[in-house]
Amino acid sequence: MVDPKDPQKSETDRGMLRSVSPYKAGFSCRCPKCGEGRLLVNGLEIREACEHCGLDFSFADTGDGAQVFVILILGAISAVLGFMLTGAGLSTAAIIGILIVVIIGGSFFMLRAFKATLVALQYHHDAHEGRMEDEAGDELNKKL
Ligand SMILES: [Zn+2]
Repeated sequence: MVDPKDPQKSETDRGMLRSVSPYKAGFSCRCPKCGEGRLLVNGLEIREACEHCGLDFSFADTGDGAQVFVILILGAISAVLGFMLTGAGLSTAAIIGILIVVIIGGSFFMLRAFKATLVALQYHHDAHEGRMEDEAGDELNKKL
């Protein structure tokens, strides 16, 4: 992608080097820019900035994207596991206990990985809200 204000300037020149794989950074819950600093704090909260490179994470907005993936994937896994445990002859209480542990534990770890991956992909593809610019490249949103 080329900067419209300065076509000679590449993304690397503007400090947006994307050498870290968004999937590697995401699944390890690391900073999408440097791959070193931790992205999440207190379980599922996104930090304000990277503790290693100082990248401001205010651009990160995953919405409900991670939850949708986790609900669909973990729901399918839990349903199949429930049928398998029923076929194995376990008692209903044991099946419910196993599924509660799988669903709660799986949700926590999958939400962390999916949320961090969505943030890393958002950074990698420079995804953000659309902005209106005039022909000179000045933002029109400020004038509205
Ligand atoms: Zn960083």
